[in-house]
Amino acid sequence: MKYIRQYKNGAMDSISGVATAGATGRGFLPSDLSLPPCRGKITRNAELARRVWFKCAGLADILFEPKDEEDLLEFLQKAPKMPITVLGAGSNVLIAGAGIRGLVVILSVGFAHKAIDAQGRITAGAALGDGALARFAHRNTQTNTQANTQANTQANTQANTQANAKENGQSRTGLEFYAGIPGTVGGAVRMNAGAEGVETKDRLLDARVIDYRGDTPILREMTRDELGFRYRGSAIKPRMIVISARFETKPESAKLVAERMAAIRLYRARAQPITEKTGGSTFKNPDGEKAGEKVGEKIVDKAANEKAWRLIEKAGMRGARLGGAEVSRKHCNFLINRNAASPEDIKALAEKVREQVAKKCGVRLEWEIVRLGWSDHSGEQRGELRGEQRREQAQGGSDGR
Ligand SMILES: Cc1cc2nc3c(=O)[nH]c(=O)nc-3n(C[C@H](O)[C@H](O)[C@H](O)COP(=O)(O)OP(=O)(O)OC[C@H]3O[C@@H](n4cnc5c(N)ncnc54)[C@H](O)[C@@H]3O)c2cc1C
Repeated sequence: MKYIRQYKNGAMDSISGVATAGATGRGFLPSDLSLPPCRGKITRNAELARRVWFKCAGLADILFEPKDEEDLLEFLQKAPKMPITVLGAGSNVLIAGAGIRGLVVILSVGFAHKAIDAQGRITAGAALGDGALARFAHRNTQTNTQANTQANTQANTQANTQANAKENGQSRTGLEFYAGIPGTVGGAVRMNAGAEGVETKDRLLDARVIDYRGDTPILREMTRDELGFRYRGSAIKPRMIVISARFETKPESAKLVAERMAAIRLYRARAQPITEKTGGSTFKNPDGEKAGEKVGEKIVDKAANEKAWRLIEKAGMRGARLGGAEVSRKHCNFLINRNAASPEDIKALAEKVREQVAKKCGVRLEWEIVRLGWSDHSGEQRGELRGEQRREQAQGGSDGR
């Protein structure tokens, strides 16, 4: 069997001759590791740069794009044990230049389904874009739901919903806030994505999740409570893959919903660098955890608290550069890959911002962007090991990520 050996200092022995990005992890991954058959797509040493908004990233040892839920479950059941990481639209991640060891899963179009029931509850596949979910709610009416459920194909559903929204002027409201968030439903659940004072937790009813803690992946239905939502976070662990989620909506004039979505898109185009290579908000708002919550008799008002961008501005970091990375002038909590930045440039600039904010404002900013593949154990998300390999690692085994 051939191996790639990776050292902590980034050096690498390519015993098999298979090239991967310089690695900072250590351990062995057999380059000709035999994988079970599947109906989806498998790519070894897969480019991830084009899969993320920052447009820079190392390689994935193995990228698996399952065709559908059954394909994913079967593959996970039979695949050799290795760390697993799931990616959505890559709009809130920073992947190390060393790449991601083990298996990276990106859900395909087979997971981008959508449907509405007679009560106006929308079920959306985890790969569906947030914007597409908002548009789907807008195009739907409570009265056309039976027709939709029967005429289940995407083309039919779209035709029905468009026609209905137009004819009776009714629509569904509640999901407009997704109109400007460029992620997927899976990423929104994991991150508790939110905007315009609404968060995923406010609309979500439940989610279907594959939990692959052991050797056998388990399909779980998780209620809103079980999902443990918090400000830009949830109880979804790296070992869990969100498959679909169900949202509640209410009836509303289609015209009003359309106007709200248009206003959200317009505001974002003005206020955020949405056409740049960016990863969204780099840091959480320091008080975001408390915003909207009752403290004593008072509801904490988000607007009354200091936002991350304001602290960054106060620290004089708007427009700061490091290597090819830049702090956006338009919205200084966004970092930009301005000029062929490496992930390391972006991370170093973010740490510089953090340092300056701590020094000048006395506040320690917390990352919102999920860092993947870094080996410095700074609280980032790393691929989850399964069963035996995790035990090996705990005992000082080969994969020391
Ligand atoms: C221009 C811009 C504007 C943004 N505006 C907002 C905003 O207003 N509000 C906001 O909340 N966010 C915003 N973001 C950040 C980002 O869009 C959200 O966090 C989004 O929910 C991430 O979804 P994603 O599919 O891109 O996930 P990714 O970035 O691919 O992944 C993020 C995390 O979710 C996990 N994940 C992804 N898919 C799944 C899945 N199926 N199952 C389990 N885990 C999964 C990943 O492992 C990772 O930990 C913005 C980003 C950009 C670039």
